[in-house]
Amino acid sequence: MTESKLRVIVLGAGIVGVASAWFLRARGCEVTVVDRQAGAARETSFANGGQISVCYAEPWANPAAPLKIARWMARADAPLLFRPRLDWRQWDWCLRFLRECTDARLRANVRDIVTLASYSRATLQALRTELAIDYDHLERGILRFFTDRAVMEAVAPGAALMREFGVERRVLDAAGAVAIEPALASIAHRIVGADYTAADESGDVHRFTAALAERARAAGVDFVFDQEVTRLVARDGRIAAAELLGRDGRHSALGGDAFVVALASQSPALLRPLGIHAPIIAAKGYSATFPVVDAARAPQVSLIDDAHKLVFSRFGDRLRVAGTVELGSEQPRALDDVRCETLRRRSAELFAGACDWSQPAFWTGLRPATPSNVPLIGRSRVANLWLNCGHGTLGWTTGAGSGALLADLLTGRAPAIDFRPPMGRR
Ligand SMILES: Cc1cc2nc3c(=O)[nH]c(=O)nc-3n(C[C@H](O)[C@H](O)[C@H](O)COP(=O)(O)OP(=O)(O)OC[C@H]3O[C@@H](n4cnc5c(N)ncnc54)[C@H](O)[C@@H]3O)c2cc1C
Repeated sequence: MTESKLRVIVLGAGIVGVASAWFLRARGCEVTVVDRQAGAARETSFANGGQISVCYAEPWANPAAPLKIARWMARADAPLLFRPRLDWRQWDWCLRFLRECTDARLRANVRDIVTLASYSRATLQALRTELAIDYDHLERGILRFFTDRAVMEAVAPGAALMREFGVERRVLDAAGAVAIEPALASIAHRIVGADYTAADESGDVHRFTAALAERARAAGVDFVFDQEVTRLVARDGRIAAAELLGRDGRHSALGGDAFVVALASQSPALLRPLGIHAPIIAAKGYSATFPVVDAARAPQVSLIDDAHKLVFSRFGDRLRVAGTVELGSEQPRALDDVRCETLRRRSAELFAGACDWSQPAFWTGLRPATPSNVPLIGRSRVANLWLNCGHGTLGWTTGAGSGALLADLLTGRAPAIDFRPPMGRR
């Protein structure tokens, strides 16, 4: 292995930035990570659905999506809500999204996502073994259940497509679903069918990322917290420095040989002044985490409630439910009561007596969504500026692998998977 002395500045300390930093350090780089928060994984990588979901990786964009989204527009509690705004960036994103809704684009996107997600799950497993990180992970698979026959029939083409890329889902009836997850017994009479993938996993992204950041620090990575990145300074066709503004109001600049943008939905704002258009918008989602009071009634297998587009993951003595998508929210950080109540009501209905439903920890986060749900990973058109952003609905699933891939590309190694360059066709 050739040791590199590259000084790399990683912008963003979510799962994607921290994994990138870990692997860059492992490949011999000097690495500094910058984040505006006081620690790692305090934004989107804080309280997500917890699923390592290689086998349910279909993007939102598919031939049936435009009609479905139009129907949902009138419902405040719709699983996916589109709020149109007078913002050309939102409309540009929507046009690109529509272009991804063809059969051909869906196939290409599924191929890319499954390739990256499979590699990433293996990378996460290897890291877990190597570093013995405890993050309440479970290797019990993901079970998706249906309470509406029409909805179940509508997902069949997606399952067929996934099968072509090697993802086999076991089809079950209600009794089969309950055999895998006994906590579903009380609603068995409403389940019309299910499918199950044993290879998928779940775990707490915040615990994992915070622990990986600590290991990275011990391995020599510098972390600079409480610093907002305000500008990337270009000189002679390269990035010379990142300008920072501290919480204390002080300005500073950080120089390096290479820069990695892992700022999720904040990435486009930093890239725009450099003439780089990254089609990423913030897709707001919610989660609620409840204390488990009756362990036998709370699911252990990670679940997808397809009728409500919600996911459930068990983290030790906590149960998390996550979901809902809002595009174009005026108040990206605010908690909406209707959405929070939807999560609580549905959880209590499915798993009566499992948790103390009066003690929810509600959270909202912004999925950094590209129109295709394929992230942007690789070199930008500025020679020493690299991207690892736009992981959308699947950043916990794709984060670890994207870090290894980015580190390989940046240090000139042959990448382990065939993943197209970021700005190739988008
Ligand atoms: C409700 C919900 C449920 C989800 N469920 C799942 C799931 O079950 N499985 C799955 O795989 N994925 C899931 N996701 C998606 C996943 O959480 C994200 O894709 C992933 O966390 C993105 O990681 P990231 O590192 O790119 O972004 P982040 O974790 O947001 O990291 C970006 C970092 O950049 C920092 N930053 C931003 N701007 C600046 C700036 N100007 N200066 C300095 N720092 C800055 C932020 O503080 C942040 O720490 C879910 C997302 C949501 C919202």
